[in-house]
Amino acid sequence: MTAMNTKRLTIDDIAQGAAVIAAGGLLGIPTETVYGLGANGLDPNAVHAIFAAKGRPQDNPLILHIPDESWLERYCADIPQTAYTLAERFWPGPLTIILKRKPNVPDAVTAGLDTVGMRCPDCAVTRSIIAAADVPVAAPSGNTSGRPSPTTAAAMLEDMDGKIDAIVDAGPCAVGVESTIVDLTATPPRLLRPGGVTLEQLREVLGEVSVDEAVTRLMSTNEKPRAPGMKYRHYAPKAPVTVVNGEPEAAAQYIAAHLEPDDGVICFDNYVNLFKGRPTESIGPKDDREAHARRIFEALRAFDHKDVRRIWAQSPDAHGLGLAVTNRLNKAAGFHIIQL
Ligand code: AMP
Ligand code: MG
Repeated sequence: MTAMNTKRLTIDDIAQGAAVIAAGGLLGIPTETVYGLGANGLDPNAVHAIFAAKGRPQDNPLILHIPDESWLERYCADIPQTAYTLAERFWPGPLTIILKRKPNVPDAVTAGLDTVGMRCPDCAVTRSIIAAADVPVAAPSGNTSGRPSPTTAAAMLEDMDGKIDAIVDAGPCAVGVESTIVDLTATPPRLLRPGGVTLEQLREVLGEVSVDEAVTRLMSTNEKPRAPGMKYRHYAPKAPVTVVNGEPEAAAQYIAAHLEPDDGVICFDNYVNLFKGRPTESIGPKDDREAHARRIFEALRAFDHKDVRRIWAQSPDAHGLGLAVTNRLNKAAGFHIIQL
């Protein structure tokens, strides 16, 4: 790939952003979850360029982003009423719905699956760009494959400057973890990835929702997960991560007792005093799950600019948004977890 000059766009540059998509180029798109690496989702060459820029394994499918639910029937077949019920309640917002695909969706997007992930992001500029280009925008998170997802344009440029045509800077992402993925082709509906819409919220609307095994444990390489991408190591900073799970005060004390001189810490604001003089990233007050979600990826990324041998992280419990935050932390740690 030849290096290109990545243009910086603002939220007023809708026509320029749409032109990049229409020309088969790569565009950094802001969303409420994380920054995405977008391209024309109907153009296999443009979609292949996403995989090349990220170094993403070909068997990990992408999500199609649309400006509203009326576009579902362009790309999806056998759409159940529950899809519209979810869209009505949660779109635009951090929810991806897996549906049967129509033949016009390229294999490059779905990694050959007969289903496709659909999402309508809660970001006006991105919806306007998609509507102006009049094609669905395929996009994974805008990081190099395996690294923490970017929640600012600057973080995305760390990985993608010179590899994409342009990026739209709309400031930091409001949610900070990726969309929740729910598979409506399964009975009962199945949670494939926890995210900005909580499992509790999904159950309010859908009743029973099962949780895929890949959400809470490490899948070995010879297991076949529901979506191929679920088995990959993810979100990882350069230094190895150890998650300490338990009552917040006890977890912080455990880390303080085991910390070695070159180690870094991710902790709640309440406990920063325990780690004075150490490389520390705090992710918000212990009960503020929205803050944890907003800050977790920047905290992980920050250690790549510090010289640490390993990273200790305390994590919230699995309620509400905590399920998404612990899922990302556990994956960043390769499921190296100390349970107190
Ligand atoms: P990213 O947002 O970078 O995590 O990439 C998109 C995510 O959506 C990946 O984790 C995929 O595994 C998931 N995904 C996309 N399409 C499908 C699908 N048809 N079935 C299951 N998961 C999907
Ligand atoms: Mg990703």
